[in-house]
Amino acid sequence: MINKVKLSLQPTFRPPSEAFSLILQVTNGCSHNRCSFCSMYKGVPFKIKSLEEIKAEIDYFRNRTRYVERVFLADGDALIIPTEKLIEILKYIKKVFPECKRVSTYASPKSLELKSEEELKEIKNNGISLLYIGAESGSDEVLKKINKGVTSKELGDLILKAKKVGFKTSVTFIAGILGDKDFRENAVATGKFISRCEPDYVGILSLMLEENSDLYQEWLKGEFKEAKGIEILKEIKLIIENIDVTSNIVFRANHASNYLNLKGDFPKDKERLIQEIDFALSRQTLKDKNYRLL
Ligand code: SF4
Repeated sequence: MINKVKLSLQPTFRPPSEAFSLILQVTNGCSHNRCSFCSMYKGVPFKIKSLEEIKAEIDYFRNRTRYVERVFLADGDALIIPTEKLIEILKYIKKVFPECKRVSTYASPKSLELKSEEELKEIKNNGISLLYIGAESGSDEVLKKINKGVTSKELGDLILKAKKVGFKTSVTFIAGILGDKDFRENAVATGKFISRCEPDYVGILSLMLEENSDLYQEWLKGEFKEAKGIEILKEIKLIIENIDVTSNIVFRANHASNYLNLKGDFPKDKERLIQEIDFALSRQTLKDKNYRLL
C-alpha cells in the first residue's frame, strides 16, 4: 500500500514558522487564486484531494517519520475543505500522529465566510488551533486594488469570528504593496485594522515582485514601480504608530523580504520598534553603502 502512494510534486508553500512541521498537502492550489501580487499557485487548478489519497499520504509519512510535533495543512486555503471531510482528516491525523501538538492551516477570507461559527468550533475541537490569514492591508482601496475579494470591514469581522471561536490567528500584511505611490492612507488603515482585530501574531512582509503575478505584468508595462526600501521602512513605522492595543500581539517583520529585522510584542515594545526604525533611517552608512535601503 505504502509503495503505491504517489506524492504530489506541486509547488508547496508554508509560513516561515512551519519550517519544522510536517506539510500535508491536502489540497492543491488556492481556491481564490486572484490576488494581484501572488503567483504561488498560478496555473495550478484548485483541487481538494480525496480522503483516500490524504489518508494514504498520512500513512506514508507515519512510516517514515518518528516524531511529528506539528502538522501544517497546505496549500493556499485548506480551511475551504468541506467541514465533514476536514474533520475526518483531523481525526485521522490525531489517530496516526498521537504525539502531534499543533495543526495549522492557511485560511482565506472565503473559507472563513463559508463556515458557520459552529462548524469552526467543531474544526477547532478536532485539532486545528492556529489559522494563518493573509490580510495584506487594512485599506478598502488597497484590498480592492489587489483583488483580495473582501472589504476591510468584512475581513476584520472574519478574523474576529475566528478569534471568537478560539483559534489563534496569525495575520500578515505587505508593506510596499502600493509601489512608489503614497503609502500613508494604507499604513494608517492597516494600523487601525490591527488595533481592531488584535490578532495573536502580526507579520509584516515587504513586497517582493513575483514573476507571473498580475502585479509583475503591471511592472513590465511600467504601470507599477517598486517602493524604495526607505519608503517601506517609513510605511512600517506608520503602521506601528497606528497600532493601539491592550492585549498582547507578537509582532514580527523579520521575513527574508524585510529590509530591517523587527521583533517585539505589542503593546510593550511599540516605542522600541519605532526607535529601531528611526535609528536605521538615520544611518547615513546604509545609504552610502548602497544597501537595499536605497
Ligand atoms: S495570496 Fe493567498 S489567497 Fe491570494 S491568491 Fe495567493 S494563496 Fe490565494
